[in-house]
Amino acid sequence: MKTTIEKLAGDTEGVSYELAVYRFKGSSKTAPTAYIQAALHAGELPGVVAIHALMPKLRAAEAEGRILGDITIVPAANPVGRAQYHFGEVQGRFHLGTRTNFNRDFPLLDRPDRSALPPVTPASTVDVRLKRLLVGLSIGHDIVLDLHCDFESVSYLYVPTQLWPAMQDCAAALGVEAVILWEGESGAAFEEAAIHPWLQVPPEKAGLDRRVVTTVEYRGLRDVETSLAKSDAEGIYRLLSVRGVIADGKAAKPKKFAGIAAPIGNVELISMPRGGAILFHVAPGDRVRKGAKLATIVHTPGDEDGAIDLHAPQAGYILTRSAHRSGRAGDDIIKLVGEVRSVKARQGALED
Ligand SMILES: [Zn+2]
Repeated sequence: MKTTIEKLAGDTEGVSYELAVYRFKGSSKTAPTAYIQAALHAGELPGVVAIHALMPKLRAAEAEGRILGDITIVPAANPVGRAQYHFGEVQGRFHLGTRTNFNRDFPLLDRPDRSALPPVTPASTVDVRLKRLLVGLSIGHDIVLDLHCDFESVSYLYVPTQLWPAMQDCAAALGVEAVILWEGESGAAFEEAAIHPWLQVPPEKAGLDRRVVTTVEYRGLRDVETSLAKSDAEGIYRLLSVRGVIADGKAAKPKKFAGIAAPIGNVELISMPRGGAILFHVAPGDRVRKGAKLATIVHTPGDEDGAIDLHAPQAGYILTRSAHRSGRAGDDIIKLVGEVRSVKARQGALED
């Protein structure tokens, strides 16, 4: 394994950032290659500890000569966001200097080649340079995993529709509960930047059956635990084995994916009609019928008409809910995966 420290100059004098890149060299020129990063949203750490639990397994595989395809690992992809503490809380989702989401506005290349990367200009802000760096590190790999988490959530994947159902084995290997399929544009999230160049070349050259591109949502922000890190590391290892990046005769064969798989248009975003305290009546993983009571918003405490109940617009599955127990009018507090397309389905990503 080779370790490289990538350095990024900050936007002001005397500030710089570093991120570690670990590379395992594969023994086969034809085996698929893999790139895995975590904490692009810098406060989302379940993937970071999963990678930490995965590394000893990769080192053991390397020592035994079982790594077939090149593997590149970036356990903490966003040192810029990681340093953005305000009033005791990390603000790792948006770059404070530009107000841009760290997982949007990635460069979309017209071919899967580093030479297609846009030039860096001296005026490029550090978040722009970070995004270019991450695309440059990931490009050319057959398997690209971007590890995130939601607020309170089951484990689920975002997968480009073009790669489904070919990626069913990966969803089963990772052991996630649900898969959300998207196509079109996502505001140039990292996942879109990883698949976009392959969609620009003829299908016979793109080899989409070989590609794995996904945003992995490893449950909620607080699900940073030893047992989950271990089982998630086993899931990633299983995926690498199933796809032939690692040779492991003892690795269990994945079962067929039996979870929820639905287009992103089926996701109902349940939003608050008024500000107030949130009382949830459902949790991630629950199945609900149409009209089920999902949450109560207490907007005028003490008043006999001081609360509003929110109901399921259609039958479905509770994917996520907010980690907060208060909110403002318009805040989305539940994602419900419906059986049919939502009448309020939006274009692009579900969240800012
Ligand atoms: Zn995220």
